[in-house]
Amino acid sequence: MKRKKEIRPKYIFVVGGVMSGVGKGVTTSSIGTILQSKGFNVSLMKADPYLNVDAGTMNPVEHGEVFVLDSGLETDQDMGNYERFLNKDMPKENYLTNGMVLKCVIDRERALGYQGKCVEPVYHVTEEIIKRIHASVKKSGAEITVFEIGGTIGEYQNAIFLEAARLLKMRHPGDVMFIMVSYLPVPGKIGEMKTKLTQNAVRQLSSYGINTDMIIARSELSIDKKRKEKISMTTGIAEEDIIAAPDIESIYDVPVNFENDGLSERILAHFGLKPRQKDLKNWRKFVSKAKSAKKILKIAVIGKYFDTGDFVLADAYVSVIEAIKFSSYWRGAKPKLEWINAKEYETGKRKYSELKNYAGVVVPGGFGSTGVEGIIGAIKYVRENKIPYLGLCYGMQLAVIEFARNKAGLKGAHTTEVDPDTKHPVIGIMSEQKDKLAQANYGGSMRLGEWPAVLRAGSLAAKAYGEKKISERHRHRYEVNPEYVDNLTKAGMVFSGVSPDGRLCEVAELPVSTHPFFIASQFHPEFKARPLNPHPLFTAFVVAALKFTKRK
Ligand code: GLN
Repeated sequence: MKRKKEIRPKYIFVVGGVMSGVGKGVTTSSIGTILQSKGFNVSLMKADPYLNVDAGTMNPVEHGEVFVLDSGLETDQDMGNYERFLNKDMPKENYLTNGMVLKCVIDRERALGYQGKCVEPVYHVTEEIIKRIHASVKKSGAEITVFEIGGTIGEYQNAIFLEAARLLKMRHPGDVMFIMVSYLPVPGKIGEMKTKLTQNAVRQLSSYGINTDMIIARSELSIDKKRKEKISMTTGIAEEDIIAAPDIESIYDVPVNFENDGLSERILAHFGLKPRQKDLKNWRKFVSKAKSAKKILKIAVIGKYFDTGDFVLADAYVSVIEAIKFSSYWRGAKPKLEWINAKEYETGKRKYSELKNYAGVVVPGGFGSTGVEGIIGAIKYVRENKIPYLGLCYGMQLAVIEFARNKAGLKGAHTTEVDPDTKHPVIGIMSEQKDKLAQANYGGSMRLGEWPAVLRAGSLAAKAYGEKKISERHRHRYEVNPEYVDNLTKAGMVFSGVSPDGRLCEVAELPVSTHPFFIASQFHPEFKARPLNPHPLFTAFVVAALKFTKRK
C-alpha cells in the first residue's frame, strides 16, 4: 500500500456571521465529510460559549438534545452531527465550553499551578484553548481539524475562542484558515437578496484581527454572480471563495452540494494540498436512497420535551429522529414522525386509541414526572394492541413500570425518581448515585457513556444486532431494581441484555409469542446511529413497523 505523505496538521475555524441558527454545525459537518472523502483524516471540534462545564445540566427544551460521546462527555447536539457525517466517534477532547476551559484554568490557579503569576484571560485562557486543540489533534491523529466556534461574531462571550484562533494562525500561518457562515436575507417586501449584513460581519471579524478566507452564503436562495461580485469587491474575498448554501430539504444534501461547487478543492488549494482520492460514493448512495424512499411509515414519538411557548421543538430528540430516518431510508421507507405530547393523554386532549393508526411507537428518554402517567398508559395500549414498540432509556423504565403494574400484579409500581415512596420501586437508584444526589452533585455524574452488555441468544435483541456482545452509550441515574427481576421475568418480561456481571438490566423485551415487536433499552442506541451505518435496533424496529403496516 502506498504510504500517505505526512502533512502538518491543518485547522479550519468556522465562525458565524450575522445570526445564529443558520446551520454552522451542518456546514462544519459537511466540510468534514467532503474533506474526508478526499482521503484525509478529518476531525471536528466545537467550542460553546456558555459557562456550563458541559451540556449535561441544560434543559433540552432550551438547548436541544444533550448528545453523549463514548467517553461519557455530555455535549451539544452538533457533536452528534459531526459523528453522523464523519461516521466516526469523536474523542472527548473535541468538545469545549467556556466553563470547561475557565474551570480548568481557575482550578490550576488555586493549586498554585501558575506559580505566582498573574493569571489572565488573554494568554492563560487562550493557551489552555490552544493546548486543548493540540490535544485533540494528538488523540485523533487528524490531518485536518475543523473547529466550529459557537455563537455569532460580535458577541462578548465567544471572543476568547476567536482570540485563540487568531493566535494559532499567527503561529502556523499556512496551516490555519477561517470560514464564515453568514446569512443573506431576502426580505419579503424587497424581494432581493441583501449583502450588507455579510459585508459588515466580515468587517467586524477583521476587528478581531481575523480575515475570513471564505464565506458560506446561507440564504433562502442561491447567491448570484452579481452579489458575489459585490461582496468580493467590498471584502477582498475571491468570488470563488463565496459559496452558495441555499435552503434545502435535507441536511444530508449539503456535502453533495458543496462538492458540486468545488468547495473541497478550494479548501485544499488554500493549504497547498491535492485530493488523494475522490470518493463521495457511499454518501451519494445514502442521499439517493433517502430521496427515492417512498413508502410512508407513520411513527409516533411520545415525549415530554416539545412545548416551548407556541412552538413544537423536535430538537430535543434529534438523534432519535435521525436514527429512525437512516434505518427507514435504507429500507425504502420514508418515516413520517408525529410528536405526541404525553401531557395531552393526561388532560384528555388525546386518546390512546389513535395509536393504532401508527406503524410503530417510540418512547425516547426523559426525566421527571410530567407526562409520565400519559406515557405509561400509551405503553399499555401499545403492548395490548401489539403495535411495534421501541423504548429508549426512560422508554424502557416506563415500559417496565407498566408491565409491573398490569402484568406482574405490582399495583402502584413506579420509579423512585417520580415517587420516592412507592410500594414497588421497580426502577430504583443505585447507591453510588444516591450519594451523588445527596451532595447535589448533578454535573456529569449519571451513568454515562459506553458500557458493555451481553445479549441472550435467540432474543429479539441478539437477532437485531447479530452478535452477543455489544457496547452502547448511557445517560441515566436510575436502573431496573434487581430485586424485582425474578418477579417481572415470571410475569413474562425478558431481560435479554445485561451488564457482563449480570447486575444491571440493559434490554427488556417481550417474547414474540406474546407481541410481534416490543423492545426497550436502558441505553441510547440513537447516539450510535449513522447515515452510512444505521443502528441495528432501529432497523429491527423499522422492519417490524413495515411488517405491521402490511398486516393491517
Ligand atoms: N430519568 C431516567 C433516569 O435518570 C431516564 C433518563 C433518560 O431517559 N435518559 O434514569
